[in-house]
Amino acid sequence: MSARLDQLIATRIRQDVQSMHAYAIQDSRGMVKLDAMENPHRLAPELQRALGERLGAVALNRYPGGRIDDLKKALARHAGLPDGFGLMLGNGSDELISLLAMACDVPGATVLAPMPGFVMYAMSAQLQGLKFVGVDLTPDLELDERAMLDAMALHQPAIVYLAYPNNPTATLWNDAVIEKIVEAAPGLVVMDEAYQPFAARSYMDRITRHEHVLVMRTMSKFGLAGVRIGYMMGPARLVDEVDKLRPPYNISSLNCETALFALEHEDVFAAQAAEIRSERERLQAALRDMGLKAWRSEANMVLVRVPDADRSFEGMKARKVLVKNVSRMHPLLANCLRLTVGTADENAQMLAALRSTL
Ligand code: PMP
Repeated sequence: MSARLDQLIATRIRQDVQSMHAYAIQDSRGMVKLDAMENPHRLAPELQRALGERLGAVALNRYPGGRIDDLKKALARHAGLPDGFGLMLGNGSDELISLLAMACDVPGATVLAPMPGFVMYAMSAQLQGLKFVGVDLTPDLELDERAMLDAMALHQPAIVYLAYPNNPTATLWNDAVIEKIVEAAPGLVVMDEAYQPFAARSYMDRITRHEHVLVMRTMSKFGLAGVRIGYMMGPARLVDEVDKLRPPYNISSLNCETALFALEHEDVFAAQAAEIRSERERLQAALRDMGLKAWRSEANMVLVRVPDADRSFEGMKARKVLVKNVSRMHPLLANCLRLTVGTADENAQMLAALRSTL
């Protein structure tokens, strides 16, 4: 039996897929989980109960229907989308990134993004058979304007991704540089605003300036990482093209209803985001007091350089604190850890664990 399977896999599954590894999610049960930029706050028990009642009334025998349109309208309102612009939903923004790669898969197409950046831009491009060009940030992890413009002129990318703020650096790019990149882009520019709830600025107020810019957001960092709702906004005709590739019913009725419920309680999530932002400031100050380099964060994570990232990561893990060791992700991130901002308690435990490893 297994010889048959070996042969089947060797001959019928794509070679590049055979040599890949599935996206690994660490078992974090019993840990202080500060590795994935999740909102540390759960819904209050009375809201959880009210949500339970709402979900109990959802007709699970039917495919998702009209409520999906209600969610699109609610998100458009939430984001302040101008009239005449389009919005599409993805099963997390991860799905939108994959659909964009499918949409741009014309012969020789390239996807370009600053590096280090979010891994899905490269992964979705490679899986779709597109070329991926990563443009290194400057040593201080800022956008390298010259290098970006040169690479764009050379590779003529179908899509340029700008994560605003960026993951894993947590930085918000300089607006004048962004504008030059947007103006020079020969194809689409996707402003990935996954971390918008924690950032001082958004590209939404400039969305009407250009016809080739899409703004992508997610409800994950807002507080619904388990619900898997991403959305992408831009000129309606452009969004409609990408939307043709969306699998029908990609958003479950339960996820849709939960997202609608959350938007009805926006103030609760806004208060959580404010609390996370203020914890972030305290965390950055504490890291600097420890003599460490912590980059200025506009997201719910802090990138920090430690003397020995492997030692700190393992030492923290032994103390039941899980963070992300990004030190091997890119040479510019040597000895860097990415710390998600948790509750005041979690951050205190994390700092104590980190201190003990220095
Ligand atoms: N964009 C960026 C920059 C991210 O960091 C992430 C997740 N960490 C995503 C998109 C994907 O988010 P989701 O699929 O949960 O919407």
